[in-house]
Formats: sequence, C-alpha cells, structure tokens
Amino acid sequence: MARQELVLLALARYRAGDGIPAYPGDVAVLADPLRLVIGDKAAKRLASAFGLCTVAELLAYYPRRYDKRGELTDLIGLREGEYVTVQAEVASARVRRMKNRPGTILEAMVTDGRGQLALTFFGHGHQEWRGLSPGARGLFSGEVSSYRGKRQLTHPEYELLGVGNAQARAEEFANELIPVYRASAQMASWRIAGSVEIALDVLDVPSDPLPAETRRRHGLCGYADALRGIHRPVDEADVIRSKYRLKWDEAFRLQVLLAQRRLAAIAYNAVPRPPVAGGLLAAFDESLPFELTIGQQLAGATISDELGRDHPMHRLLQGEVGSGKTVIALRAMLQVVDAAGQAVLLAPTEVLAQQHFRSISSMLGPLGMAGQLGGAAHATRLTLLTGSLGAAARRQALLEAASGSAGIVIGTHALLQDRVQFADLGLVVIDEQHRFGVEQRDALRDKAGDGRPHMLVMTATPIPRTVAMTVFGDLDVSTLTELPAGRSPIGTYVVPVDERPHYLTRTWERIREEVAAGRQAYVVCPRIGGAEPGQIEDSAPACADSDVPASLEPDEIQGRPSASVLDLSADLGGGPLSGLRLGVLHGRLPSDEKDKVMLAFADGLVDVLVTTTVIEVGVDVPNAVVMVIMDADRFGVSQLHQLRGRVGRGRHPGLCLLVTDASEGSEARLRLEAVAGTLDGFVLSRIDLAQRREGDVLGTAQAGRKSSLKLLRLLEDEDLIGQARTEATALVAADPALSGQPGLAAAVRALAELERATFLEKA
Ligand code: ADP
Ligand code: MG
Repeated sequence: MARQELVLLALARYRAGDGIPAYPGDVAVLADPLRLVIGDKAAKRLASAFGLCTVAELLAYYPRRYDKRGELTDLIGLREGEYVTVQAEVASARVRRMKNRPGTILEAMVTDGRGQLALTFFGHGHQEWRGLSPGARGLFSGEVSSYRGKRQLTHPEYELLGVGNAQARAEEFANELIPVYRASAQMASWRIAGSVEIALDVLDVPSDPLPAETRRRHGLCGYADALRGIHRPVDEADVIRSKYRLKWDEAFRLQVLLAQRRLAAIAYNAVPRPPVAGGLLAAFDESLPFELTIGQQLAGATISDELGRDHPMHRLLQGEVGSGKTVIALRAMLQVVDAAGQAVLLAPTEVLAQQHFRSISSMLGPLGMAGQLGGAAHATRLTLLTGSLGAAARRQALLEAASGSAGIVIGTHALLQDRVQFADLGLVVIDEQHRFGVEQRDALRDKAGDGRPHMLVMTATPIPRTVAMTVFGDLDVSTLTELPAGRSPIGTYVVPVDERPHYLTRTWERIREEVAAGRQAYVVCPRIGGAEPGQIEDSAPACADSDVPASLEPDEIQGRPSASVLDLSADLGGGPLSGLRLGVLHGRLPSDEKDKVMLAFADGLVDVLVTTTVIEVGVDVPNAVVMVIMDADRFGVSQLHQLRGRVGRGRHPGLCLLVTDASEGSEARLRLEAVAGTLDGFVLSRIDLAQRREGDVLGTAQAGRKSSLKLLRLLEDEDLIGQARTEATALVAADPALSGQPGLAAAVRALAELERATFLEKA
C-alpha cells in the first residue's frame, strides 16, 4: 500500500475511533495537533520526548545532520554515553546461550570499514534480529556503552536500508540524503522521520508566512517546499535553499513582531517632560566637575528632546563601562523631576542598586537632599527600594514613591511588584537591560498612570548590530563610542602559570607595590569555594546572562578545580599578600555583609578585594588599579572585558592580569590573547558571539525568542537579518494588523505567545 494511503487510513481509523470528524480533503494545517495527523501513540511519544505537540512544532524540529545513503558513519569517534544514530554494515552476527541463566544473547558486530561497534540483544526469540546478516546495511540507534573494553549498543533500534519501509521511502523520494534527527531512547531518528513524512504528506499551507513580494525580491522558495526540502532533501542544494528560506522565516517573523511593538509603543501617549529653565538639571550641570564628552552631549540632546514629546521615548543607551552612561541617565531623570514627574532606576542586583544609590546621592549632593539638613531649596528626594529592606524601611520607601515625595527611586526587581505605586512616573531607566525581558519592561511601564512613561535602557555590554536588532529590536539606539578624556589606559597581560610560574609570584608583588603606593586591587576567582556540591555559586552559571562559552563546563571536565575565593584569600593572606588588608566578597554573603565589604573597599579600608563576578557590573572604585583574574579561561570574552573595566577608572593606569594554565596555541589561550590585544568592546563582542550559541547570547530573559531561532545565526546572517528588518518595517507600516497576510499573522502570534509563555514560566 502506498504511504499516502496508509496515512489516510490511519487518519480515518483514528478519527473514527475518537469520533473526531474528518476534515475535508484530509489535509493538515500547521496549527493542527499532532495526534490528529500521526495518531495518539506517536504523538504522545513526540510530546514527552521532545515537547512537540503541533504539526508546526514537529516540522520545525529540523534534522541535525544528513547522512549520505551508503556513506558509513565514523564509528571510532563515538563517545560513551552518547545517544547516537549511525549508518553501518553488519560484519557478523551470532546467537549464544547465556551461561548463568536460560535464554540467549544475540551479538552482532557492525563496522564502518575501520571501527567496530557491538550490538547486543538479550532475550528469547530474537525476532527482532531478522535481517542482521553480514553485509546488510542499516541505521542503528542507541546509547553507546562499554562492555569489557568494547563499545556497544544494547538493544538498539535499527532499520535496515534497502528493505521494507526504507526501500519504499528511498524509491519514493529518490533521495540520497538521510535526515538524522536528534533522537532519544523513546524515539529513534527514523521514527521521527516517519512522523515528519506523514505530516508533510498531508500538510497544506494555505497562506505562506512570507509575503509573495518579499519572496520574489529575495528569491525565496515557498514555505511548504522549504519544509519538504529540509526534511526530505533531494540533494544538498535543496537543503541550502530550504534552510535559507526558513532562516528568513525566523528573522522576518521576529522583525515583524518588533516592528509592531515599535508602532504600538509610539501610539501610546506620554506626558511630555520638556526641560525647565532654572531647575535641578541646570543646577546639576552647573555643579558637574567635568565637561560632558561629545557623545554624552549628543545622546543627552536626543534624550532631552524625546522626553519632551507626547509619545514615550524607547531608547537603548550603550557604551563601554565607564563611558559615562550614568551621568546621562541622571540628567534625564532630573529633567523629568523638573517637569513634576518621578523617575525610577532599575538595577539587576542589590549590590548595584545600592551602589547607584550611593553614587547618585553623592553626585547630586544637596540637590538630592530634600527635607534633609543641608538640602538645597528646590532639592528632590532619592529613595532606595530593594528586596532586602526591613518592613519599616520598605513601608517608608513605598510611601515616598506613592506620595511623589521621592523624585528618584532606585531599586531592584522588588520594584516590579504590584504593590509599588508612583504618584506620577515619568521615566523608567533600566541598567544592564539584557537581564530583563520585554515583559518585565512592560510591567514597569504599566505603573504610569497617564499614558506611558518614557524609557531609557542602558547596557555596558557592547552589542553587535545584529544582536541589537534582534534582542533590542523594539528600541532606538544611542551609542557612546569614546571614554571621557583623562581616563587612564588599561594594560592587559596573559599570565601563563604553567609555562612561567614566576609570573604569578610577580603578580602578587605587583599588587604589593601598588598597595604600598596607596592603591587597591581586585582578585577575581571563578568560584566561591567551600560549598557543598550542588550549591549555587556566583560563578557564571548562576547569573542570568552568563557569557561563559557553552564549551566551558564544570570543573571536573577540566581536571583541576578552579581557584576559589575562600581558598585563595586564605592562601594569599597567609602568604604572598600577608600583612595587607584583604576583603572577601561573593554572592553567598548576606547582603548587608556584601554591602559592608564593598563600602570598606570603596573607602580604602580594604587593600585587596578577593571576589567572584559579583563585582562585574557597574562597581566604581577609581583608586583600584590592578585586577587579577584567576583561571581567566573559565570566563567569557565579554565578561573579561567587563571585569577589567573596573580598573583604570581614576588618574592611574589600570593593569589587568589574566592568569591561566591554558597552553599556548589552545583555543582558550587565543581567547585570552584576543582580550589582551584590544580594548574595543565591539570587536570582542563579535569574538564572543562567534563562540557562543545564539541562545546564550539572548540570555534566559529571552528564552522564548531563543527557542524561536533555530537556524538563524546572528553573526553569519547579518545581511539577511538587515533585509528582513527592512521588509518587515515596510510591511507593518502598510498593514499593521497583517490583515492581508493570515499565515504571517498566525506565525507572529505564535511567537508572541511563546515569548509570553516562557516569561510567565520564569516569573
Ligand atoms: P558608566 O555608567 O557608563 O559605566 P559612569 O557614568 O558611571 O559610566 O561614569 C564613570 C565615571 O566617569 C564616573 O566616575 C563619572 O563621574 C565619570 N565621568 C562621566 N562622564 C565624564 C566626563 N565627561 N568626563 C570625566 N569624567 C566623567
Ligand atoms: Mg554605570
């Protein structure tokens, strides 16, 4: 019976059994639940193994590779514990009795011509081994284990090529490429292929998600064609053509969603907050001890202008650590306060919120001391609102926000809670945006009573253009490209401890010299140490947007545990840095303790701060000049760049030492040398991106977006993303509701839904 008939029969049986009316023409559309198409059993397995529930989801489960028919898989490269699908030839097969119990074992040996792999089946009848005769070729799938030094698959699933189903399929499609899917023990690759085929056979795409014009302009094939081409390619050109088209879908759908958001956002009303002569901002500018850089002036002028409009500003301000973003944000906040509004500054961590509070208090001086002794006449009030406030302080802070007596409120996620109210919220500033999702921004926006507040988002992680278009595509962007004048340069050096052990000795001496000259140092470790196994550490995995490359996994893999704050601080204190005042900072300390340590360091009461990456963002101690990063190869490129931005902030040149045991020429070492070789964060962000998976780049706050980008590569596909953005913007301008594009409208809705769902899951 032809496959098509089988499918229809299965469908008919299924529907009859379930009393589901067959729909006309027996076709399936993308939104259909899988069980309608492939039956309950297979649908349940796909759902539990891979979370695939609809036709669209199954068809977006793309093959991870293609095997050429007849080209055997390299068996030598298989690793124990891997779940594999291999194409191989049977070399021998024999059945023998088991020694200690009744029953028999079938042992077959398969080969790729060089390496061998054993297949073992226990049991009685061995019906399943029929056909496993020498010379037969097939696909074998299972978990690689090892028995007496030989690698084997126990009870593998297999499908012989050239017989039965596979034969039929091969003839039907004349394809020589076999799609290989990421499989699991519940579902072998070819079973997934079988389900995909059934879905493709009945698939109907009444409205292509890409407008015909766009397809024509960019030479893209139809959607259904592309799905067939990626799952059942005739040749490699077919794969390439189909992938390209499907990448377009990913990029376009996202850019349409972002274009709609931009449009929707400017459709809101906002209270205009134009500059007021003789107000706080003017007084603040008067008191500034330095000239604003050209970049600061330009960004500041744009922001000032947008704050004065009756539609909300949505601006991303990016610039290196120390480029002076905070000053710009503060000036924007003062403009809003002058115009009778309130401003809120949201930081990703408690430490940062507190630091912002301190530094902004000191920048404002009397201007921020309303109601306090020494406050200026027209002063405003600064209020700190974080999760760790005691009940009374919290009540007080909430009251100040709600009554409007606080002009500027600084805080953490606690600010997102429903109970927080503002009298007249005019501006939301978000520091280090990449830790927040769109929905979190919206939660804050909704706190403005009349229309929406203006929004300024700041990030110190330089973002390649494509990432900006993808992650922050609904924002306008200002970039600070220069550091304020008089900033001292930072010298960065790799310290290879294995090759030159005395360099490490020299490292500690350097710290002693700087401390003797009255300056301070950081020593950063990847781990806290002393933890029970499994306990959460501050080392990268714990923070939301860890940028440690995916390849750098737990310590065990690398043999030696990495340096830890607790061990190293003890070693240093009793050894090379004895007599110096050492402080210890990490995420397991209670927050008031953290605060005390940071304050002591800022006040110069601590010479050397041994710490984890909790100091990564925003910490500002100009007297700190040396930063030693232990096991630097365990950190991502951008993270190292961020870390070294902590030194060289004052009058004295900064020194950053990257300590590593990575050997010369290794990938890890090259990464460190790249960091040492340039201070350009944009260059480094591209290196960083090249080494990370897109999902890591987008961060967990972008989890929904991440799972929607399967084929698109943010670096390689820069042109495509740019083109998709142009097309999407034009389309949305002409047809905001996508009424002429039902297929696209559905795809965009599904994406928005996905982002919302992942956000709610996390919340
Ligand atoms: P960012 O937030 O971008 O990391 P900050 O705004 O915290 O940078 O600025 C870093 C330091 O540089 C602060 O001490 C700030 O007062 C100072 N600064 C900012 N702008 C200038 C400028 N134009 N000239 C000199 N110093 C500046
Ligand atoms: Mg800052």
